[in-house]
Amino acid sequence: MVQPSNYITDLDIIAGRALEKEEENDHFLRFVRGNNDIESDSFAHSLNDKVSAAIDCTTCGNCCRSLVINVTTDEVGKLAEHLQLSESATMEKYIEESQQGNCFINTIPCHFLSDNMCTIYEARFKECRDFPHLHKPGFKDRLSGTLMHYGRCPIIYNVIEEMKLQLGFFDAISG
Ligand code: SF4
Ligand code: SF4
Repeated sequence: MVQPSNYITDLDIIAGRALEKEEENDHFLRFVRGNNDIESDSFAHSLNDKVSAAIDCTTCGNCCRSLVINVTTDEVGKLAEHLQLSESATMEKYIEESQQGNCFINTIPCHFLSDNMCTIYEARFKECRDFPHLHKPGFKDRLSGTLMHYGRCPIIYNVIEEMKLQLGFFDAISG
């Protein structure tokens, strides 16, 4: 078991490991999906609780610097209220709308990130609150999407690496 003090949080190291472990992570995806004994939701949730408690997102902010953040029209309204702007001014300044009518923050990194802190924290969007989504049900079904962010998010990286150890994944692939 990895001790919290040994979690890797350096974003360059994690990005490098993601490249090195691409094939290993493909194996892990198949290993988890093919193992009916793994109670993966509760297992993933408890590892997520443990790792999230030990990693300080305010020293990272990498999701806010690198993801497209989708927002709903309700959230645009709440943001406008929070910023004390009209909805049209908020849309013009901060939001882009796709041809399909989907809204997203119009900059990467996000406008509202300052020194790794969210300047609209109380009014931040559901997508921001939910990332990296490891508290949700359906871990197995969502693992492929989770692994897409493995090289970006220290919480995901450490949850997956600890999961590999605890599930005996390395023994399984070497045997
Ligand atoms: S709104 Fe806040 S939490 Fe969401 S991406 Fe921007 S800075 Fe990050
Ligand atoms: S959720 Fe992940 S990527 Fe985002 S700030 Fe926290 S550790 Fe970093």
